[in-house]
Amino acid sequence: MTSSVSTYLRSFIAERAGGRCEYCLLPQALSLHRHEPDHIVPIQHGGNTDEENLALACMRCNRFKGPNVGSFDPETGNLVPFFNPRNREWTDHFRIDNAVIVPLTPEARVTVKIFRLNDEDRVTERKSMIEAGLF
Ligand SMILES: [Zn+2]
Repeated sequence: MTSSVSTYLRSFIAERAGGRCEYCLLPQALSLHRHEPDHIVPIQHGGNTDEENLALACMRCNRFKGPNVGSFDPETGNLVPFFNPRNREWTDHFRIDNAVIVPLTPEARVTVKIFRLNDEDRVTERKSMIEAGLF
């Protein structure tokens, strides 16, 4: 699916994101795998391959998100869309506390849950990057 994203669009998206995953903030420079253009609304749900529907995502965020567009909020049970980096500010929805990404809104809660932003290995990795002043 990502192969349909042109080279121009790929570099535009990476630059706009400041080289960081727009969900977990992992810097591309510190990732073993190349960050990917994520279709915020997947193609099978009618999403387009254009700059408004694309976000820079690390491999793990992109894999865990898969073809989903949202999930059930663990607190309320309501069906909620994922955090959308095109029309939301990360800092309005999340904060980082001791390397853990703390969700502040329903959208953030379903994103943390489905993208598995706080899996143990990811928190450990984030902690070392913070300690090294790289995050
Ligand atoms: Zn990520």
